[in-house]
Amino acid sequence: MYDFVVVGAGFFGAVFAHEVKTAGKKVLVIVKRDDIGGNCYSYDDPETNINIHKYGPHIFHTSDKNIWDYICSFADFNNYRHRVLTASGGKIYSMPINLATINQFYNLTLTPGEAKEFLKSKIPAIPAPANLEEKAISIMGRELYEAFIKGYTIKQWNCDPRELPAEVIARLPVRTSYDDIYYDDNYQGMPIGGYTPIFKKLLEGVSLELKTDFFEKRDYWMSVARTLVYTGPIDRYFNYCYGKLRWRSVRFEIEKMPLDDYQGVSIMNYADQKVPYTRILEPKHFYRERINLSRGTVVMREYPCDDPAEPYYPVSLKTDQEILAKYQKAQSNEKNVIFGGRLAEYKYYDMYQVISRALKQAEKLLRVSPPAGS
Ligand code: UDP
Repeated sequence: MYDFVVVGAGFFGAVFAHEVKTAGKKVLVIVKRDDIGGNCYSYDDPETNINIHKYGPHIFHTSDKNIWDYICSFADFNNYRHRVLTASGGKIYSMPINLATINQFYNLTLTPGEAKEFLKSKIPAIPAPANLEEKAISIMGRELYEAFIKGYTIKQWNCDPRELPAEVIARLPVRTSYDDIYYDDNYQGMPIGGYTPIFKKLLEGVSLELKTDFFEKRDYWMSVARTLVYTGPIDRYFNYCYGKLRWRSVRFEIEKMPLDDYQGVSIMNYADQKVPYTRILEPKHFYRERINLSRGTVVMREYPCDDPAEPYYPVSLKTDQEILAKYQKAQSNEKNVIFGGRLAEYKYYDMYQVISRALKQAEKLLRVSPPAGS
């Protein structure tokens, strides 16, 4: 019998398992794939010595000092600051939209103050932006939206941007300064050695079974767990009884090239709808300190797709919200089961948010059921 059986070893599962194990609980983690870290899993390509994020790029950023201190107790971070460029209409611009983007796009030389006024003149009155398109236009105006957001968003989500929640675009700042660092957060960087060593440390001393699909022996796992911690897709847990939630996935085409540098930046977005991929990653740029060690480069073209076996992003259309409400109600009736993480909560969380939720959840449970002798 285990105090906790944790399904999945992404940030929620691994942090939770670490915390309860450290508090003396008996915990087992089971993972469907043959690697740990969920979609954060990374490996060093032996030929080029480049650290590859197998399931897509993960750049750590947070303004929460506690979470930064926590993650730094498992890894040293380099001082990588994420900068993105975007190709639109045959030109390359700085992203997120900042003064360089605005001046280049409009062929102007505006100062920050002038740019503020200029943007205001481009923004129509939208009193309560109700979806991604309205929200974007209310921040940047229609022209910038159509050049940089619309095509990318349609490719990424495969739906009309007017159907998508406004919060998705609120992830991206629009600036009237030349600050071109992608994230506003106080603490940012890439873990030296990649993400996998963090998960190895988190799971040290925790029983782990890879290549183990919870659903193949669901009753058994439930029977050996005092509490089950489930981090997989919420609709799958309930056997899709209220219908399938919409998820978006991505696939990568990896190519090795005998070049020092393919694109000069870690991520180049492709805003035009006619380009089939959304972005090209060149991961060697995440680790400037290793760049001379590499032999050639690796690029990954990212193609959004629908793949029910590999859910990455909750789409969260209105219909999904309605279905989700039913699953949430069902969740609250499940005794001794904790649901956590992007897939189980159907929320577009960043890594730091998942870590924070796992820590809080572990703390709450340990308060209710402290380890023997404490
Ligand atoms: N987005 C866009 N153009 C870009 C970058 C982002 O339209 O060049 C939109 C798109 O809808 C995307 C959302 O902003 O899904 C959030 O972008 P973010 O970079 O946070 O996406 P992630 O890195 O999580 O895939």
